[in-house]
Amino acid sequence: MKIFLIGNWKLNPETLAKAKKLFNEIEKEFKKFPKVFKKEKIVLCPPFLYLSEIRNLILKSKLKIDLGAQNCFFEEKGAFTGEISPKMLKSLKVKFVILGHSERRRIFGESDEMIQKKVLAVLKEKLTPILCIGETEKQRKAGKTFEVLKNQLKKSLKNLLNFESQTAKIILAYEPVWAIGTKNPCHPKDAKEVLLFLRKFLKKSPILYGGSVDSKNAKEYIEVGYEGLLVGGASLKAKEFVKIAKFISSLT
Ligand code: PEP
Repeated sequence: MKIFLIGNWKLNPETLAKAKKLFNEIEKEFKKFPKVFKKEKIVLCPPFLYLSEIRNLILKSKLKIDLGAQNCFFEEKGAFTGEISPKMLKSLKVKFVILGHSERRRIFGESDEMIQKKVLAVLKEKLTPILCIGETEKQRKAGKTFEVLKNQLKKSLKNLLNFESQTAKIILAYEPVWAIGTKNPCHPKDAKEVLLFLRKFLKKSPILYGGSVDSKNAKEYIEVGYEGLLVGGASLKAKEFVKIAKFISSLT
């Protein structure tokens, strides 16, 4: 079984030169341990503008790293200023697309209905959606975690023609909103409870955890059954990111 390690660079680094430098550092770290990395699937999700350059660097490095995008639109073409389609991403050899990240929901007003259209559009291009769901702190404190997650899942995966076979092509990421970028990760015991709940609905999708993952806590989520990690802050630190990959390798 492959364990995913997905790095979400978000709106970082500030320039292309810095993005190339970050990749070069990651490459250098990975190459220190040539035999270690076999079983995990590493995906880097830089900003759209850096995708081509990072793809070229990945090819040159000969590392087994795949390319992901952090978002996309659901239409193929037309008058949608500022948007990017799954087909465009595919033409850049992108394989994965993060959808429904809580920052997109909160800051850019993305609804479950929009995310659902994006899931379909991404699947249509035979790319893999990484669908993010998660509850806010208020919702957790009110005991509504499971209700919120079920709702997000139901709405974002509506209209999938053959649910079982289509959801097998989707990666789900449980990202409690209160744990993202806060250094306050979800306790592995609570994360396991959520995992078991989500597994009832999605029998075949890999389910990942995300939210303040670092090299110290990474393995706990894999140990409770998650099939990978979605990492924000720690993916911008080459040593830390590769250390997480090493922990995963030691467990698989
Ligand atoms: C994320 O943005 O998806 C994320 C998990 O961020 P961080 O690892 O920084 O909490």
